[in-house]
Amino acid sequence: MSRGQGIEALTPVAMTSIVTTDLIGVTRGRSFPSDELERYKVGGCGWVPANSALTPQDLIAEDNPWGAYGDLRLIPDLDSRVSVGAGPDASAAPLDFIHADICETDGTPWVACPRTLLRKEIERYRELGIQITAAFEHEFNLDTGTGQREHLAFSLEAQRQGAAFGGWLLAALRAAGAEPEMFLPEYGKQQYEITCRPTQGLAAADRAVNVREITREIARQLGHRVSFAPKTADDAVCNGVHLHLSLQNLDGEPLLYDPHAVSGDDLSSLGQHWAAGVLRHLPALCAFTAPTPISYQRLQPHHWSASYACLGLRNREASLRICPTLSLGGKPVAPQYNLEFRALDATASPHLAMAVILMAGRLGLEQQRVLNAVTDKAPSDLSAEQRLASGIVPLPGSLPQALECLRGNTELLQFLPQDLLATYFAVKQKEVSLTEHLTAAQLCEHYGHLY
Ligand code: GLU
Ligand code: MG
Repeated sequence: MSRGQGIEALTPVAMTSIVTTDLIGVTRGRSFPSDELERYKVGGCGWVPANSALTPQDLIAEDNPWGAYGDLRLIPDLDSRVSVGAGPDASAAPLDFIHADICETDGTPWVACPRTLLRKEIERYRELGIQITAAFEHEFNLDTGTGQREHLAFSLEAQRQGAAFGGWLLAALRAAGAEPEMFLPEYGKQQYEITCRPTQGLAAADRAVNVREITREIARQLGHRVSFAPKTADDAVCNGVHLHLSLQNLDGEPLLYDPHAVSGDDLSSLGQHWAAGVLRHLPALCAFTAPTPISYQRLQPHHWSASYACLGLRNREASLRICPTLSLGGKPVAPQYNLEFRALDATASPHLAMAVILMAGRLGLEQQRVLNAVTDKAPSDLSAEQRLASGIVPLPGSLPQALECLRGNTELLQFLPQDLLATYFAVKQKEVSLTEHLTAAQLCEHYGHLY
């Protein structure tokens, strides 16, 4: 009798991961056998406070409030589960993860959890009788590694070169319930964009994470490389993330649109206060929405991103844009009407970024801020006097400048837990010191690999 006879061959154990997407937008967590979910539903899995102090360079910023101490739990939010079966690589393990809130071991929410921060901010809006609907659009570079000839912008050839990848991506996003809309070739070489339908509240930020992780997963399975970094080469077109936001009352009626608005762009007076709040705090918001040194190579004039704090009607150089609506086919305008925040990239945590943008908008509502800084022109094409007269201020030119703006913004800081802020500043300072010797081209290369 030969050894091993009668012993069954192994089959891999399917795993489910409980994940948190941290302050620098990286999704991390722990996995367990999927058939043991019951055991993890209530108590989740262990987590370490200082994990939140990791820089994108994978080093912990020592100057954080936690050090080697403390224990936390990742408590899964079962409604947020993403399960995607076999994709292009049939031997790859299924992708199965659940977003978590970080809690203390007694179940109280942990101060520095970005998802909890967003959840609380959405509750503040609910107390004001407002719900939030949002969608994040993502641009990225796709290298299929097949040495295909360079394609032209927006071309069918570009679409065909990305079509196999795009088809799998759409299938996986559908399976994940992310409601994908479009996969499209962009202006840059090997640059594509993926859009999904808007969804409500916290789920919108979870969906942004799902899009990034699923895009990376499909690339991994196909042996391709993707990068969401804001700029991946000196001569590359930048990758943005555009956050579309709209406000509704608790009955679901749109609040941003008013066809009788005096401003002429149909932005309701509530919408004007909200936008005024966002613009007022934009330089400080950049510390969270454009949070890496490479972000500032993108926030430049004539990049169709954002370089000044201004609102523009259908203007792609505006940091806040009133998006086009369709009247074709008798579609009602009000539910389509939304504002697009463009000073954002994928080195940001979607939860943290969305939370602080909402805080700024809420401050505008509460203080009934008057909207100025509106322009139909690219703000960089206006003279300095014209900008001054319209109240259009430049955005920070570097991460240290953005962090300075944040430090000086007491109005915004009051809504951010002290320990979260201390960790964030420690991480960002460490990141600046780790990268300040790099040239512009080296920064592109460096972040192109990290994100
Ligand atoms: N690539 C641009 C950016 O960095 C956006 C182009 C567009 O409007 O789609 O945000
Ligand atoms: Mg685009």
